[in-house]
Amino acid sequence: MAERKRNLKRKGEPLKGAEKLSAARGAEREAGWLQEKVAEIRRNSTECKFNMKRLRFLSDAQKVRQGCGAVLYWMARDQRVQDNWALVYAQQLALEEKLPLHVCFCLVPRYLDSTYRQYAFMLKGLQEVAKECTSLDIQFHLLSGEPELTLPGFVKHWDIGGVVTDFSPLRLPLQWTERVKKELPPDVPFIQVDAHNVVPCWEASNKLEYAARTIRGKITKLLPEFLTEFPPVEAHPHTSTKTAKKVNWEEVMSSLEVDRSVGEVVWAQPGMAGGVAMLESFIDKRLRLFATERNNPNADALSQLSPWIHSGQLSAQRVLLEVQRWGKRLTESVASFKEELLVRRELSDNFCFYNDNYDNINGAYDWAKKTLQDHAKDSRPYLYTREQLEHAETYDQLWNAAQRQLVLEGKMHGFMRMYWAKKILEWTSSPEEAVNISIYLNDRYALDGCDPNGYVGCMWSICGIHDQGWAERHIFGKVRYMNYAGCKRKFDVGQFERRYTGKKA
Ligand SMILES: Cc1cc2nc3c(=O)[nH]c(=O)nc-3n(C[C@H](O)[C@H](O)[C@H](O)COP(=O)(O)OP(=O)(O)OC[C@H]3O[C@@H](n4cnc5c(N)ncnc54)[C@H](O)[C@@H]3O)c2cc1C
Repeated sequence: MAERKRNLKRKGEPLKGAEKLSAARGAEREAGWLQEKVAEIRRNSTECKFNMKRLRFLSDAQKVRQGCGAVLYWMARDQRVQDNWALVYAQQLALEEKLPLHVCFCLVPRYLDSTYRQYAFMLKGLQEVAKECTSLDIQFHLLSGEPELTLPGFVKHWDIGGVVTDFSPLRLPLQWTERVKKELPPDVPFIQVDAHNVVPCWEASNKLEYAARTIRGKITKLLPEFLTEFPPVEAHPHTSTKTAKKVNWEEVMSSLEVDRSVGEVVWAQPGMAGGVAMLESFIDKRLRLFATERNNPNADALSQLSPWIHSGQLSAQRVLLEVQRWGKRLTESVASFKEELLVRRELSDNFCFYNDNYDNINGAYDWAKKTLQDHAKDSRPYLYTREQLEHAETYDQLWNAAQRQLVLEGKMHGFMRMYWAKKILEWTSSPEEAVNISIYLNDRYALDGCDPNGYVGCMWSICGIHDQGWAERHIFGKVRYMNYAGCKRKFDVGQFERRYTGKKA
């Protein structure tokens, strides 16, 4: 982020000839063009191969159990049918063995600080997944409860001879995978595919990377091998003799035990179709502004894709392929976007995978721990409780506006997220408390919350993760400081404040 901020240009660049052409083309195209193009590209990609480096065996067994009834993809992080390497591989296994293919999702009654907002987004996306599976003769099952309690029985009941799952570097999903592994029959192979990252996390690096500069080259070098097209998941030729229980989605929604006081947002349509529509509008309208305006919270320059990427409803690899394909002439913007979507995002997975303390101060580098400790007793001119912060009741109208944006829209502008978390450090009694509160608010209100990017974002802001030491100052020590005056120099603070003033958080 240090390099990124240095490279920041203040004003939008005038469009060059080629950019004008591209923007004009965007205006000419009919809504829905990207969906059609992507479907066509997939149809022409049947020859694309699955790269075995995308998977790792979690079991000793490596061959599908002979005489079994089916292959299963246990879908967790990557909630989509197409552009999903885990499902591509599960179908390949089932085809090799001439077996039916099943997909299941384990719905846990609550997940960290997620609320109805994130659950509704996820379930509506899963509804689309279920429909697509049915159209492809793949059985979709929604299981209710912790994976280690529901999956082993399911595997036995459906005579599953091989289980494929996707990958998340986070604590709970890793625990689920570990526990399921212990409960599965020893002759059933259990295979994990990194379907979220372009370069599989374990291939990008085998260690905790220090910063973007230490992982960038490694990822870039591997792109020719991994940034490929996806073969389509096709109609499955081996039909299951038994069909999955039909899901009553309304019942599932009404039976959720999560906090319903945080409701859905209107701007983000759940599911892959909604994600592709957002990607299309980014390519047509906002991509050209990305290089110059992405740090201006008043400008409409961001992709807005994080809710779909986080929930796996959209593949980051697909996003990158399309942005590169259709934004060819917008070199600078495509390069900046690639830095965020590829390098920063995959760096977050690296951090969480190789650092058990990814969401607390013990995970900080030694220099940051020391400097925060040295300033632990510094007087705090303002101290706010979690409730005051949650209700946007600080003296700082810019911060309040950002918090309101998060609560009302389920997504805070990326630049404001940094300022927001840093102020929480300044206004709470310890860095530990600041990390906890920022993660709590982010996971509770953000549609893209509970994500490695979120943990790293909070840890970057408060504990200097992936950053460097700066001039020492009160409370922050050597951790990078941001203030109101700095924001005023960068963008029209008043405009942002007015946009959210009067709106209740
Ligand atoms: C305190 C704090 C909390 C954050 N919480 C989250 C979170 O919960 N979930 C989340 O996905 N991101 C989080 N981020 C990272 C970043 O702010 C968001 O990814 C971005 O604002 C999402 O909006 P967008 O999709 O319009 O981004 P764009 O700028 O259009 O970027 C495209 C994609 O690149 C990735 N990306 C962008 N910025 C970063 C970054 N700094 N680090 C890693 N990946 C990035 C995301 O996948 C994003 O969707 C957080 C950052 C901070 C400082």
